[in-house]
Amino acid sequence: MSEAKGEVKKLPKEPGIVTCRFCDGTGKYQNKPCEICGGKGEVEVVDKNRKCQFCKGRGYMMAGIPCTTCGGTGATRPLNKQRLF
Ligand SMILES: [Zn+2]
Ligand SMILES: [Zn+2]
Repeated sequence: MSEAKGEVKKLPKEPGIVTCRFCDGTGKYQNKPCEICGGKGEVEVVDKNRKCQFCKGRGYMMAGIPCTTCGGTGATRPLNKQRLF
């Protein structure tokens, strides 16, 4: 991570940590560390109250296929962090 500016904490919306929808907060997916959340089971989002329009907040498109827009969080992510993978 390279944060060149000194305003990293300044976020306009209510930021939050949401449960990773892809692994359902377990940090694992099919016995492997979840690639979305890195095995933490939670993901930082810019606004946890705003659902991802693409997957309707589910975090995945189909079983086993994470939503690339929200990275499986089910919530809107910062624009500069649109894609987790
Ligand atoms: Zn996960
Ligand atoms: Zn999504």
